Amino acid sequence: MKAKIGFIGLGIMGRHMAGHLLNVGYELHVYDVSQPALAALVEKGAAAHAGCKEVTAASDVVISMVPDSPDVEKVALGADGIISAARPGLIYIDMSTIAPGMAVKVSKELGKLGVRCLDAPVSGGETGAANAALSIMVGGPEDLFREVLPILDVMGKTITHCGGSGAGQIVKACNQIQVALNFVGMAEALVLGAKAGVDPAVIIKVLSAGYAQTRVMDVRGPKVIKGEFEPGFKSKFHYKDLNIIMETARRLNVPLPATAVAHELFAAMIASGRGDLDHSAVINIIEDLAKVEARAKG
Ligand code: NAD
Repeated sequence: MKAKIGFIGLGIMGRHMAGHLLNVGYELHVYDVSQPALAALVEKGAAAHAGCKEVTAASDVVISMVPDSPDVEKVALGADGIISAARPGLIYIDMSTIAPGMAVKVSKELGKLGVRCLDAPVSGGETGAANAALSIMVGGPEDLFREVLPILDVMGKTITHCGGSGAGQIVKACNQIQVALNFVGMAEALVLGAKAGVDPAVIIKVLSAGYAQTRVMDVRGPKVIKGEFEPGFKSKFHYKDLNIIMETARRLNVPLPATAVAHELFAAMIASGRGDLDHSAVINIIEDLAKVEARAKG
C-alpha cells in the first residue's frame, strides 16, 4: 500500500511538487499558512488540515517546503509542529533550503522520538519543480534514502545521497555559490556590452554558443534583456542562502572572496527594495552603478 504523505508549504515550489504526488495517486495531506495556497491543492484532491500537527497525525511521511531555517524549526519543533504528533516509524523529509546546522538539530530532536529524518533540498527552479525534473540532494541515513527514493523520484530527475544529516544542505550551499556567481557574471557581461552599444541579445546569442554558455543564461538571459524579473526564485531567498553560505564558510574557516562580493550585491538588492524580484534582477544593481540598462534593441 502507498504511504500517506503530508506536505507543508505549497508556494512556488511546493505546489508543483505536491501536485505531482497527487497525480501519481498518493493520498496527500496538506497545510500552508496561506489559505489561497492551500485551496489550490485542495481543488486538485488533497485533504486540507488546520496545522502541522494534524498533517503529521494523518501521514506516514511528512515533507516540508517552506522558506527558511526558522520556518522549518517552527514546522518541525514548534508547539503545534511535527514533534507534537511524532511517533516511531514516522518519516520527515525537509526539502527547503536551510542552514545545515538546523537540519542536524531537527533530525536529532525528532530522532529522540523515533522519527527518521532526511534533509533533501532541491535545485532546478520553478521549471524543474513543474516538470518533475528537480535535482534533489539528500543528507541522512542511506537506508532511509533508499526507502523514500520512489517518493523523491516523483518530484525529481537526479536524486543523490550526499552523506549524513546536513550533507544535502551543504551541497545545496555549494550549488547556490555557483548560481549566484553565474548571475553576477551574466549581469556584468551584459551591462559592459550594452554600455559599449552592442545589443544584449547579440551578446547572449554569441556567449550561449561557446565556453561561456550557462543554464542561468539559457533560462533567464532572454527574460533579463526584456526587463522581466517576475520570480522564479526570489532575491531575498538567494540572500538567505548567501547568508547560510558565508556563515558555513566562517565556521569552517574557508575564505570565499568572490561569493562575498555576490553576498554584498544581494544585500544591495534587499536594501533597494528588490527582494521579491527574481534573483536575475541582480543585474539592476550593476545597471544602476553603470547608469545603463541592458535591454534588447529589437
Ligand atoms: P514560497 O515563498 O513561494 O513558498 C513557501 C510557502 O511556505 C508559502 O506558501 C508560505 O505560505 C508557506 N509557509 C511559510 N511558513 C509556513 C509555516 N510555518 N507553515 C506552513 N506553511 C508555511 O517559496 P518557494 O520559492 O516555494 O521556496 C521554498 C523553499 O525552496 C525555500 O527554502 C527556497 O530557498 C527553496 N528553493 C526555491 C526555489 C525556487 O526557484 N523558487 C528553487 C530551489 C529551492
